[in-house]
Amino acid sequence: MHLFPPAIVDLAAATTDRLLLPGMAARGIEAAILRLDQIHPVVSGNKWFKLKYHLQEALKDHYRSLVTFGGAYSNHIVATAYTARETGLSCTGIIRGEAPVVLSHTLRDAMAYGMQLQFVSRDNYTTISNSCHEQFPGHYYIPEGGAGSLGEKGCYEIMELVPDKESYTHILCAIGTATMFLGLVNSTGSHQQVIGIPVLKGMEQLMEQRKVRIHPGRFAHCRLFHDYHFGGYAKKNNQLFTFMNHFYEQTGIPTDFVYTGKLLFAVNDLVNRDYFPPGSRLLVIHSGGLQGNLSLPLKTLRF
Ligand SMILES: *Cc1c(COP(=O)(O)O)cnc(C)c1O
Repeated sequence: MHLFPPAIVDLAAATTDRLLLPGMAARGIEAAILRLDQIHPVVSGNKWFKLKYHLQEALKDHYRSLVTFGGAYSNHIVATAYTARETGLSCTGIIRGEAPVVLSHTLRDAMAYGMQLQFVSRDNYTTISNSCHEQFPGHYYIPEGGAGSLGEKGCYEIMELVPDKESYTHILCAIGTATMFLGLVNSTGSHQQVIGIPVLKGMEQLMEQRKVRIHPGRFAHCRLFHDYHFGGYAKKNNQLFTFMNHFYEQTGIPTDFVYTGKLLFAVNDLVNRDYFPPGSRLLVIHSGGLQGNLSLPLKTLRF
C-alpha cells in the first residue's frame, strides 16, 4: 500500500530555513520558514499533502478517474491534474464561471497535464458539487481545494518534516479552506500556538464551524487574525506587492499574492505590533502556490 500514491514530490527539498525579519532580533524573537514550495514545481506546497490520501483511496478502490472543483487560478486544480496524470488516473475539473476567451495559465497547464475542463456558472457550480456522485458516476470525488478529513490527515504529516519541531512556540499558516490549519492544529503540542491567516473576507465564523474538527484540548491553542485578507480572496494592492518584493530582497524567498504574501505580511506586522513575547520561536509554513503569480502583469513582482 505504501507504493500508493507514487512518490511524486521530493519531501527532502522542504527545508526549514532561518528567517530573520527586521525587528525580530531586537525583540528576542527567532523564526524559521518551512519551504513546502520547494517540494515540486507544479504540485506545490500543501496541495500534495491534501491530495495524497485521496489518490491512495482512488487507487485502492480501483477508480480510473477523478473529478474535482476549483476556480480559474486554483493551485488545487493544477496540482490535481498533474498528480492524476502521474498516478495513471484521468480527471475532470469543474471550473467555476463561464469559459473565458483566453484561458488562464493555470487552466492551460491543467489541460496540458490531461485534465478535462468543464465550465459551469457560479449557480450551477454549487448544485453540481453537491450532487457530484450522481453527476459523475464512477469518478472518485475530491472536494474543492482537497478539503475534508483525508486532506487534513495528509496535513498531519507536514510537521514531521520540521527538525526540532517541538522547539517552536508559534506555527503560522495561510488559510483557504482551513484544511492545512486543522492538520497543523491537531498535530502540534499544547505548548504551541497555531496561528491562521484567512485570505478570504468574512471567515470570522470559521472557527465556530470547524470547532468540531479540532481535537478537544487544542481549541485554546489556535488563533485566527482576520485583518490580512487585503479585501478578499485574490484581492491585492501595491502595499502587498511592495511588501512581497521587499521580503524577496531581504530573504531571497518568493511568495505568492493569494496566500503566502499575505501570510508573511501578517507575520511581519504581528512582530512589529509586539504580539510575540521575547523568546518566541516562530515557524512559518510556506505553503507554495507560486504559479498563481503568473496571472499578474509582467514586472509587478521582481521575482
Ligand atoms: C490552497 C493553499 C492554501 C490554503 O490551504 P487550505 O488548506 O485550503 O486552507 C494556502 N497556501 C497555498 C499556497 C495554497 O495553494
